[in-house]
Amino acid sequence: MNCDKHPEREGVASCIICGRILCEECRLKLAGRNYCQSCADKLFQERSGETVKGKGMGLGAKILIALLIILAVLAVVSYLIYMVYLAPYYGSAENVMRILMNDPERIIRFLSGNI
Ligand SMILES: [Zn+2]
Ligand SMILES: [Zn+2]
Repeated sequence: MNCDKHPEREGVASCIICGRILCEECRLKLAGRNYCQSCADKLFQERSGETVKGKGMGLGAKILIALLIILAVLAVVSYLIYMVYLAPYYGSAENVMRILMNDPERIIRFLSGNI
């Protein structure tokens, strides 16, 4: 059998997708398998299409958004705890922060007794 494109050349392989006979020049070896040029192109296009689609929303971006949401929720929750429980007893946020730095157990004890 001779090459599909070059009738004067002897075929050395056949494309695993379309079965076309390929000479040494036409044969494209990818991951140990033989492809013709057009099937290799199609394969490559499909793969790069998938990567582009997959990159639309990367895992990293999703994790980042999730972290931001968690941080926002934590900020709101700690603000609410401060406003409802701490502010009436300890006054300004600065005061609460100072107590938190010097004696965090006092705040934890206070909160666990009140919430
Ligand atoms: Zn082919
Ligand atoms: Zn050929």
